[in-house]
Amino acid sequence: MVNVKELQKKLQEIAKMPREEQAKAADMLTEEEIEFIQKQQGASGEKPQCIFCKIAAHEIPAKVVYEDDFIMAFLDINPVNPGHTLVIPKEHYEVLPQVPPDRAALIMNTVRILSGAVFEAVDAQGATIMQNNGAVAGQAVPHVHFHVIPRFEGDKVKIDMKPIKLEEKQFEEIQKKIIEKARTKAEKKVVYDISGKPIEEKKEEKKPESTKKEKLIKIKSRIP
Ligand code: 5GP
Ligand code: ZN
Repeated sequence: MVNVKELQKKLQEIAKMPREEQAKAADMLTEEEIEFIQKQQGASGEKPQCIFCKIAAHEIPAKVVYEDDFIMAFLDINPVNPGHTLVIPKEHYEVLPQVPPDRAALIMNTVRILSGAVFEAVDAQGATIMQNNGAVAGQAVPHVHFHVIPRFEGDKVKIDMKPIKLEEKQFEEIQKKIIEKARTKAEKKVVYDISGKPIEEKKEEKKPESTKKEKLIKIKSRIP
């Protein structure tokens, strides 16, 4: 049996170390502990312990409002307004840049359908569509999802965007970089993760099976 408290302590210690040392630090973990973490993160071929994956698989209940082979939409358990709905792909992707183009199109189309359906169902006056990527952006559930939030005059929803000052030169530099990045991604049909690293889609060369510890390090570095 894994002592979860002890494991948490070890993981906290490892997390504090510089990334290069983290690989070696995996020696601090027993095989059993590594297996436990991989199971939690869905790396051992078993289903990830992801709440939205479980909803998508009907393993835990949700107030589902739309479902097809690839997409599900259900009411948010902590709505900010009546009708607050979440739209998810049934497959597990953490953040939007990881979603393959065809799936992204299906998700967006469902968001479009739901934004109209929710609007009419609750007699709203407007709608906010929101999508957080990464903990720093406020993503609490690491399974990509769009919020469809109906809006009403005088409601309590606050999306507090305060503009910052940028020089003309900074605007231009950023514009140039984004244009280049967007063009490459659009042409090559490569999907990128949140740190800008390309993932899957490209035919990968067959690499030798990595050891459990190597896999663990790879998984850890993917956590947003
Ligand atoms: P995030 O902050 O990640 O963008 O939003 C996650 C949303 O998922 C939150 O608004 C939260 O209320 C909702 N949520 C978290 N767990 C559950 C759940 O088990 N069921 C449902 N229906 N919504 C959930
Ligand atoms: Zn998931």
